[in-house]
Amino acid sequence: MVLGFTYQALPMRVLFGPGVLAGLGDELGRLGLRKVLVLCSPGQEDTGHRVADGLGGLAAGVLAEARMHVPVEVADRARDQAVHLGADGCVAVGGGSAIGLGKAVALAHGLPVVAVPTTYAGSEMTPVWGLTENGRKRTARDPRVLPRSVLYDPELTVSLPAGITAASGVNALAHAVEGLYAPDRSPIVSLMAEEGVRALVGALPAVVADGRDLSARSAAQYGAWLCGAVLGATTMSLHHKVCHALGGALDLPHAQTHSVVLPHVLAYNAPAAGGAMAAMARALGGSDDPAGELWGLTGRLGIPRSLRELGMAETDIPRIVDLVVGEPYANPREVTAAGVRAVLDAAWRGAEPAAADPHVRTHHR
Ligand code: NAD
Repeated sequence: MVLGFTYQALPMRVLFGPGVLAGLGDELGRLGLRKVLVLCSPGQEDTGHRVADGLGGLAAGVLAEARMHVPVEVADRARDQAVHLGADGCVAVGGGSAIGLGKAVALAHGLPVVAVPTTYAGSEMTPVWGLTENGRKRTARDPRVLPRSVLYDPELTVSLPAGITAASGVNALAHAVEGLYAPDRSPIVSLMAEEGVRALVGALPAVVADGRDLSARSAAQYGAWLCGAVLGATTMSLHHKVCHALGGALDLPHAQTHSVVLPHVLAYNAPAAGGAMAAMARALGGSDDPAGELWGLTGRLGIPRSLRELGMAETDIPRIVDLVVGEPYANPREVTAAGVRAVLDAAWRGAEPAAADPHVRTHHR
């Protein structure tokens, strides 16, 4: 039943479909931009130059230095380079690292960002920025960092290797899962979340089997867009908190950490999130065990299912438990040290998610 809710639409424009990259110059013109700095990761330098070449005189240069979690010194270099070249905007081409760098320049300078995402991480749909200094990552929301336009061209995702494709897709699913039980969810955002899960879960096995399948790549990117929009519109809970702690304290890889942890947090929260589980069940084609279903999916996709495989030592579990229970945040089920420990134990071993205990204390609903 729909009671009351608030829905804040975010003002970005989306161009979607194979070949839309060819319209990037027109899109910059529409925004009044005349000289942009192209940002990408070192591994995506060729793509960055291809994009810049396609822009001709609209491109001021390419900076291929984007890194995970946006180190402050890289953000400073990008800002200095933008000033030096007289750029009036940035085009961020790549995954969350490149788009995060564009957001850092927007934050420091107010330069508009146009995003061309090539993974499924979803940062392009959120006003959330992050910066890492002296090993500590600060994140916050600011509408100034929201990309003005986003060009989703599935042709750019064809080169994404199967392992990164799969992990990045499950990372996107995590946004939808937590959006479905978020304290500030709305029926509109829940529709996006359910459809995002349906599209991604349907497409991921096909894109992992054949990365050049453009129709499956399009479906996966459509799902990732929806899941990213959910991330931008809602407050994330236990799953994102656990992954943030693991990434920050142990430097575990972002997308792979999400894909290992997600089934376990979903199993933990299941008994306290009936509406979310019903939506997940519908999106998964009628499954009565969404957590087990997601765990099975990660197995079929051939990605790591344990934190041990990602290089975490078992002795680090207590430290992560302390970080996760250290400060209060929204979660449908009460977050206890014993509960988080059980989630991390299972995720560390790569065990099947524990069957949910229906007699649990809930925080909302
Ligand atoms: P990433 O951007 O670091 O990309 C992962 C790897 O894939 C890189 O080596 C990159 O070069 C390569 N790659 C990207 N696209 C490719 C392609 N099409 N073909 C071949 N290789 C390609 O990783 P990510 O998972 O996309 O993003 C993770 C980062 O984004 C983290 O720092 C995370 O915190 C941040 N993030 C932020 C938000 C937000 O809302 N602010 C949301 C999601 C993620």
